[in-house]
Formats: sequence, C-alpha cells, structure tokens
Amino acid sequence: MTRPIVRFAPSPTGRLHVGNVRTALINWLFARGAGGKFILRIDDTDLERSTKAYEDGLKEDLSWLGLVWDETFNQSERFGIYDAAADRLKAMGLLYPCYETAEELDVKRKIAQSRGRPPVYDRAALELTAEDRAKLEAEGRRPHWRFKLSGGRVEWTDLVRGPQGIDTSSVSDPVLVREDGSYLYTLPSVVDDIEAGITHVVRGEDHVTNSGAQIEIFMALGGKAPEMAHMPLLIGADGSALSKRLGSLSMGELRAEGIEPLAILSHLAKLGTSDNIELRGSLDVLCTEFSFSKIGRAPARFDETDLEALNAALVHSLPYEAVAERLAAIDPRAADEAFWLAVRENCARVNAAAEWAEIVFGETTPVVAEEDREFVAGAAAHLPEGGLTSESWSAWTNALKAATGRKGRSLFMPLRKALTGLEHGPDMGALLPVIGRERVLARLGG
Ligand code: GLU
Repeated sequence: MTRPIVRFAPSPTGRLHVGNVRTALINWLFARGAGGKFILRIDDTDLERSTKAYEDGLKEDLSWLGLVWDETFNQSERFGIYDAAADRLKAMGLLYPCYETAEELDVKRKIAQSRGRPPVYDRAALELTAEDRAKLEAEGRRPHWRFKLSGGRVEWTDLVRGPQGIDTSSVSDPVLVREDGSYLYTLPSVVDDIEAGITHVVRGEDHVTNSGAQIEIFMALGGKAPEMAHMPLLIGADGSALSKRLGSLSMGELRAEGIEPLAILSHLAKLGTSDNIELRGSLDVLCTEFSFSKIGRAPARFDETDLEALNAALVHSLPYEAVAERLAAIDPRAADEAFWLAVRENCARVNAAAEWAEIVFGETTPVVAEEDREFVAGAAAHLPEGGLTSESWSAWTNALKAATGRKGRSLFMPLRKALTGLEHGPDMGALLPVIGRERVLARLGG
C-alpha cells in the first residue's frame, strides 16, 4: 500500500471533546501505523465563529495527547484557491446561481412535503435566463451557488461501513457558496483534500451523505476521490447521548479532572472495536494493533466507568518522574518519591495524592478506640530505633505481637487508625517511613 496521507479537520469553534478526539486518533493511528502523514487542517472558513483561542486550545489538546501533526494549515488563508475552484466549476456548468430566499425555500419544502414528495431542491434556478438573473440582481438579490449533482448513484466501499451508495437524485444540490460569497464546508474540504493528496478521508458517519456530493466534486475537479472511512457515532454507556459527566467534557476539562492522556487514548482507540478495552502503554502499541476491519458498525458506547478504571490502572503504575512536577504543583510536600510510591496504588487520579499528602504530612487526628488505648500508647516503646525504613513496619509489628499477643487485624488496624485516621489506605510498610518517626510518635500519643 502507498503511504496514507490523512487529515483531521476540526473547526476552531469550540474545544475538543471525546467525539472529535476519537476521529483525530483513528486518523493518527492509521497514518502512523502505515508510515504515512497526519495533517491538521483548521476549518476556519466561518470567520465569525472561529477563534484563534479555540485553535490554540485544540492544538494544545492534541499535543497533550501526543497526537502530533506533520503539517498544519488554515482554510482561512486559502480563499483565493477556493475561488479558483468555484470558477472552474462554474465554467463547467456545475455550479449555478440561485436567488431564492430562505423563506421561499422553506415554502417550496413545505409544498413538496404536503404532496408527499421528498424536500429536494427543484432546480428552478437552472431555468432562469440571463435576463431573469439580471432583473433579480437589479432588485438587489445576490446569488448563492449550488453544485449540480449528476442525479446518478455514487458508490464507494467504505473502510468501516462496507459498500455504500448515495442516490444523488434523492438529495438537494448542495449550496457551496453563500450570498455573501462565503464558503460552506463542502467545497474547501474537497479542494484541500485534492491539493494535499489525501488518500483516506476518515471522519464521523454524520458526513456519509456529504460524501455523495463530495465524491462528485472530487471527480469534477479532476481528482480521484480518496478512500472513505466513516466512524459510527459515539454514544453514552446507556445508549443515549453522551452524558454530562466525562463524555461531554473538553480535553482541557478532562485534564483538569486528572484523566491521563493514555487512558483517554486507550479507551477511544478500542471503543466499538473487536479488541478488549484495556490499558496500552503507548501510542505505538495502539498503532500496531489498529485496523479498520476491527471497527464495528454499531454506535460506540463511551463508558465513563471504563475510562475511570483505565485511568486508575495507569496512575497506579506511574513512575515518580512522570508525576514529580504535577505533585509539586498540587502540594510541595507530595513531591517526594517514597511518598508517591507509597500512595499511588490508592490514587485513581494523580491529584488524589493531595489528600494523602494531607494525611501523611498534615495535622491528622489519630482515631483510637477505647479498647485499643493502652495498646496504642504502649506501641511507641517498640518502634525500631533510628530512622524508619521499609523494614520498620514488620520489625515493629513483630515486636508488638510478641509483647502483646495481638495478631492480624487487631494488631494492624489500631496502628493504621492511629497513624492515618482511616481504616483503609496504602501499605503501612511503605507509608511508615514517609510519615516519619516524629509524626508517628506524636500520633501514638507519645
Ligand atoms: N470541519 C469538518 C467537521 O468538523 C470536517 C469534516 C471532514 O473531516 O471532512 O465536521
């Protein structure tokens, strides 16, 4: 296979959320896995709604996820090129001026529907003579421009959906240029795909119908249409729309919530595929496992519980170097390797280390039951001499066992509760040296 060239084409009119990140990821995995190219195209032809801040935001989000791009460009810098393509289509008679107002079109649609016909544009504008047009323009009307579909059947073999066909007689000729001369997404996308040599258009299935018209525009402009892959939509775990919790959060918000890039990537790469949803160690691994043939046709269910579980599994094994800076920012006391290694298995998110830092280093109130008072007060005397190490806990509890006859839960739990104020938590062997001799003695009431 020749090396694929793909593009991810977000509009900078909002932040990235799991739905469009999935599209970016699938493009990226496919291209990188086959030694190809991943282009980031900024679809900012809508000058009113697009902002530089959103563009910067989506670039930041992609970088944070590790979805680096080989090239990027903005559609807003290419209007001259789209004008030239529109002129070519006009010269071929494939782009024609229409003068109906939105209200007039609405009336036409309603009439068609009341007669039981599909609300397809009737091409009345094709009947206009040069004189008619001049008259309309003299009235101050400006044309919008429609692409003349062939009326035939457009077919392609979709890499996800299999054989596809769109009967272009059943859809309206799409408007490519508005009254004010601005472009809808359809034409610029095709022009750029041809120029960038895009081999595969990979996007959401909400674009399937667009593909019918776009394939005809590809043909008209002399380009061969790229391969197409339309991904099933992402829905919530219960089958409804994506939920208000993690599913609808932007990448920036997920990041602030303490969700790790690899948890998101592992989840989104496997969702709706025949592979199990499991944590993967790197984007490279996800690349080698990627195949369009593994993607199912049913909507993919985004389950926040799965994402949380993947995140927890990842955090439990993060080495100190990977989190040192973040720990320092969360709480300077937490920027300590022994502390992190002691508490990480009790953190579903890195920022949960803040709570443990407070318990370990802060003013923790010992919890001591009446029947354990004497035992806890006497425990200090058996604490091994000198600095506490990873061996100290077993040495200490062995000595206490011998001295008091206590064992099991009645031996360990009163100590844990006195030292942490809690009945559960990290392994005490690892935690004891981090709490340190001074605080241990203070909490034992010594
Ligand atoms: N900007 C378009 C969108 O976000 C791109 C669609 C495409 O990939 O062709 O829907």
